[in-house]
Amino acid sequence: MLILLSNDDGIDSEGLLALREAIAPGNEVWVVAPEAERTCIGHAITLHKPLRIKDLGNRIFSTNGTPADSVLLALRVVLRRKPDLVISGINKGPNMGQDVSYSGTVAAAKEGAFVGIASLAVSLNGRTDFLFRDACRSVLDIVSKIGAAGLPTHTLLNVNIPNIPYEAIKGLMVTGLGKRIYNGNIIARTDPRGGTYYWIAGDGESFESIEGTDLQAVDQGYLSVTPLHWDLTAYTSMGEYKKIFL
Ligand code: MN
Repeated sequence: MLILLSNDDGIDSEGLLALREAIAPGNEVWVVAPEAERTCIGHAITLHKPLRIKDLGNRIFSTNGTPADSVLLALRVVLRRKPDLVISGINKGPNMGQDVSYSGTVAAAKEGAFVGIASLAVSLNGRTDFLFRDACRSVLDIVSKIGAAGLPTHTLLNVNIPNIPYEAIKGLMVTGLGKRIYNGNIIARTDPRGGTYYWIAGDGESFESIEGTDLQAVDQGYLSVTPLHWDLTAYTSMGEYKKIFL
């Protein structure tokens, strides 16, 4: 298969390097990713400054753009043909529940889904001591299942992997997005000129305990795959909105 890899942790991230190495046998793998970390940049694309692509050799390219820019440039400039698969990751840290809206990792995969390519975002649920080699084995399992059949149109797959040895994973669950409980911590400090500045601490380690969600599945040691649709229309609420407005 022709596979495009990207991420939001930057071109030098271990998660990306490990995935490239694991997926290379039997596939034609290209890497186009941001030159530096762009975590939490969401689906931003760059309109007001020039974008550059650096050829690092061995089908590896870095860009000064966002994750979404990188996939766009990969498809339109670097590859100029449709890959069979776009994989974004492996991200250092989970992308579950509301994370999906903030995530550059998910956005890179979404950019692939926009043009009808089977796309996956892959994240590892750890904060330190990432078991990337184990996580790569799970990714290979998923990729072999998707195979040439691809994914349903207009969808992408959001994969979250428990940071435990491959053999310890209890199985795979097809999940829905859960809900994190953010503590809302914003730290206020004083700068050298006496002005106040803020750091968003963003601790969202706790979550609502709901069966069948990504957060619950990964917490219980399951590999979580969540189908996402980039059409955000709330079709099930259309009736209620019609009652309000019509
Ligand atoms: Mn990241």
